[in-house]
Amino acid sequence: MLYSELSETFDRLESTGSRLEMTSILAEFLRRVDRKDLRNVVYLCQGKLHPDFYPQVLGMADKLVLKAISFTAGVQEQRTEELWVETGDPGTVAERLIANKKQMTLFSEDLTLDRVVKGLLAIEGSDGKDSQDKKMKHLSNLLHDAGPVEARYLCRIVTGRMRVGAGDMTILDALAEAFATKEDRPAIERAFNVTCDIGLVAETIATGGMDAVRAIGVQVGSPVKVMLAERLPSIQEVVERLGGRCAMEYKYDGIRVQAHIGKDGVRLFSRRLEDLTSNFPDIAQALRTHCRSGEAIIEGECVAVNPETGFMLPFQNVTHRRKKHGMDDAVKDVPVRIFMFDILYSDGEDMTSMPYPERRKALEERFVLGGMVQTTTMRVVESPEEGEEFFNSAIAARCEGIMAKSLAPESVYRAGSRGFLWIKYKKDYQQALTDSFDLAVVGAFYGMGKRAGRYGALLMAAYDSEKGMFETVCKLGTGFDDAFLDGMPDLLDDGLSESMPRSVDAEMVPDVWFEPSVVLEVVAAEITLSPIHTAARDVLKEGSGLGIRFPRFTGRVRDDKAPEQATTVDEIVRMYSMQSHDSDGLD
Ligand code: ATP
Repeated sequence: MLYSELSETFDRLESTGSRLEMTSILAEFLRRVDRKDLRNVVYLCQGKLHPDFYPQVLGMADKLVLKAISFTAGVQEQRTEELWVETGDPGTVAERLIANKKQMTLFSEDLTLDRVVKGLLAIEGSDGKDSQDKKMKHLSNLLHDAGPVEARYLCRIVTGRMRVGAGDMTILDALAEAFATKEDRPAIERAFNVTCDIGLVAETIATGGMDAVRAIGVQVGSPVKVMLAERLPSIQEVVERLGGRCAMEYKYDGIRVQAHIGKDGVRLFSRRLEDLTSNFPDIAQALRTHCRSGEAIIEGECVAVNPETGFMLPFQNVTHRRKKHGMDDAVKDVPVRIFMFDILYSDGEDMTSMPYPERRKALEERFVLGGMVQTTTMRVVESPEEGEEFFNSAIAARCEGIMAKSLAPESVYRAGSRGFLWIKYKKDYQQALTDSFDLAVVGAFYGMGKRAGRYGALLMAAYDSEKGMFETVCKLGTGFDDAFLDGMPDLLDDGLSESMPRSVDAEMVPDVWFEPSVVLEVVAAEITLSPIHTAARDVLKEGSGLGIRFPRFTGRVRDDKAPEQATTVDEIVRMYSMQSHDSDGLD
């Protein structure tokens, strides 16, 4: 297959704003792609060469890419840099300069997809002391035979700027349209949720059809998308919603870890699919030692403990384990324990479709419990009073609250979904009107007065998972200390965008836009109807969206969450209906 066919498809995808049209462009293209190329094509649509959990990533600095463009096009580096300053995008620079070059080149060969993938793999794999040089040469090699549009996307892929709008949901829609039916769409999504590998799903559906897709199960080594909890405003409602009888577990405030315990070792994944094994080597080793099965996948919360008293410490302590360097000291200084709360797989058995009581029993049986490896404290409660009592004991044990879990036969592990099989109830709900929000930063406003010359406030958005869009809910200017204000450019500027990103829907216009990437935890006084914010616009009232009032940054950057894991618009709608509505004023 020629790479030009793929880059032309990228161009078509980029030039439409309609998700439906995007889906049909992609479906029509995927149908034509040779089966053997499908995996690569799907990864490349998202600017990648591997599934999301693969540790290595392409990532060339802009300056290096500009060098490769200058070298290939025979243009002075100064000219290339000027164009880059003007456009902000190495892809556009390449498109303009390579266009001229191609017309003059006699000895150029068409670029095949195979060659592009090999070239990109070579860039990714270049290491050692000449790595920069090697990367540049591999890229120039490809650019030499690229046309303008091909060059644009090559440079966007290597710099991590591939944003043609083909998000996971659009690709899954396109796979259903190309190879199955609308009714099969949930089964296709399930296969993706249990493997986190969209390339594998694409290849399976194209070669083996829906039967093969349905047979996809969890596998040690491939992270499973995590199951999430809904929230309700009182213990009474929690117990009633779960039929008057449910399991309650302590809700620990740490870092969620999914452990893949294999015969040859253990890998730990964050809920963002990052590999956390090197951050918790002690937990990885303890899990291997305490596990009675040869292979297992479990989930738990890693919590820091005071080495002297054994008491659990607040969340901030365990974040010392998330740094990249100095882990040896951190392992010594910050002892942690894992409190396991679920098991998804054990020795050939996919447990995700078993009800919760069976999974819990298996979890307790398949581990030697004690020391660093514990299960969450759990009790079956049969009334709101028992629930209150359990909640109070959780708070006394320095936990955040409780997680109530359904005991019904249908209480399976629903990968990647938030539902009422699990319901959280936290201490904070008793004090504030709302739970905290995890919101994506999509823009910034320059500060005034003391904040002049810095970003002073941020435009924050929730995620609409149906539409794949980030919709604004507030302008956030409170809760920033000086260190955070100073660090904002470092945190945010990688995502700077010339104009409103394609995945953002906003009416409020900030001074600068960002591609959604950074997630911040925000508390607020209440949720109100808002004429200016776009979250849930027209859902509750024609012409109004939902905004949050008096938002304040808690100081917690949710670097364990991808932007798509931010609080969803649906959740905000539900939180809005949980509030009392004596203050429905527009603001
Ligand atoms: P969410 O995970 O719902 O997106 P969040 O990350 O902001 O939200 P919370 O709302 O505080 O976190 O609660 C959910 C998280 O609580 C889980 O993702 C998990 O990390 C953690 N947790 C702690 N104890 C338990 C438990 N017993 N069962 C399940 N999850 C637990």
